[in-house]
Amino acid sequence: MTKTETAAADVLDIDRIRRDFPMLSSVMNGHGLVYLDNAATTQKPSAVIDRMAAFLRHEYATIHRGVYTFSQLSTAECDTVREKCRRFLNAGRASEIIFVRGATEAVNLVAAGFGRKFLKKGDEILISQIEHHSNIVPWQRLCEEKGLTLKIIPVNDRGEIILEEFQKLLGARTYLVSIGHVSNALGTVNPIREMTRLAHHAGAWVLVDGAQGAPHFRVDVREIDCDFYCFSGHKIYGPTGIGVLYAKAKHLDAMDPYQTGGDMIESVTFEKTTYAKPPAKFEAGTPAIAEIIGLGAALDYLGKLDWEAVTAHERELLTHATEKLSAIPGLKIIGTAAEKASLVSFSLEGIHPHDIGTVLDQEGIAIRAGHHCAQPTMKRFGVPATARASFAFYNTKEEIDKLARGVKKVLEIFK
Ligand SMILES: *Cc1c(COP(=O)(O)O)cnc(C)c1O
Repeated sequence: MTKTETAAADVLDIDRIRRDFPMLSSVMNGHGLVYLDNAATTQKPSAVIDRMAAFLRHEYATIHRGVYTFSQLSTAECDTVREKCRRFLNAGRASEIIFVRGATEAVNLVAAGFGRKFLKKGDEILISQIEHHSNIVPWQRLCEEKGLTLKIIPVNDRGEIILEEFQKLLGARTYLVSIGHVSNALGTVNPIREMTRLAHHAGAWVLVDGAQGAPHFRVDVREIDCDFYCFSGHKIYGPTGIGVLYAKAKHLDAMDPYQTGGDMIESVTFEKTTYAKPPAKFEAGTPAIAEIIGLGAALDYLGKLDWEAVTAHERELLTHATEKLSAIPGLKIIGTAAEKASLVSFSLEGIHPHDIGTVLDQEGIAIRAGHHCAQPTMKRFGVPATARASFAFYNTKEEIDKLARGVKKVLEIFK
């Protein structure tokens, strides 16, 4: 840590921030909750909970169709959130923001709307060895359907993408590169800007799965220059059931709709239907209205934080956890990339990760144990599963100390 980072970390008033998140004062098994499963989902600030409740209590109405005032207000509010998402990602236009259920649906939308339309037999899709299942399976299915080839970019023993191998794989038939911003299983931050540049140079489109990127970094899709970027609301302190797909306008114009039905048409006759313009073209059906509004409240909340301080604090948590955990005999950290987001995946010699999770649960500590929806990543590192502690800006060093004590307890029980 540099001096300025230490100073920045002090700016963040963690006690005050923790009071914004009611779940953080919960008790689990007789202990104050130590919530370290933020890569799976984050807790919600009162600002989000209260805004959604107020909307449902006093303002609820559907969007688009109403001539009455409450419906018009709902519609305007959802449009405002779309603009907030545009600003959050620094996209050029609000119409490049598509509301989806989450990162999973976003990838499926691109696979269906872009992949099915443009990719032909023999074309290639590149993904990395450390992707989440939701950035693997939609492409596998598309490959089966269309006779495409899925190629895998390997990682080194630290869990970093090997750029030379990536360059070798990029070829004339590469149509799409779909890559995670941050690995949810290892914490590796991938060099997405550089990869996008290389992919574009080879004429390929780039999707960035930002489910683990958006919670930790200020994302600038125009600077990255990716064709698509997606994230889930529930991983950035907002509700479940809502997420965002950003896509360059020219792609949205060219792509086919993903789902069809109400709200996405311009006109329908039994002979022919014409589609509405993006974003409506990709938003068939009544959306998750209260969740969209909750997402807006989450972005407002994040907008008030000092991001330099947040980044410094999260980095400090990662450094502290890495030091504390790696000092424990028999503990192995899986994923040791130079650039990591604030999570630590680890295993204990001879002890199943589920047993680690179960003992920690009794201590009030919530971590994830399993394959983290990334079985190929586990295979690459020769483990069936790992224990994973993942941090948010509301976590503290004291919580990490509790985690380390808990892990030592696991060792005592199972030795
Ligand atoms: C969580 C996650 C997803 C899927 O997000 P959902 O909210 O479950 O749709 C995709 N990719 C990564 C890297 C994730 O961490």
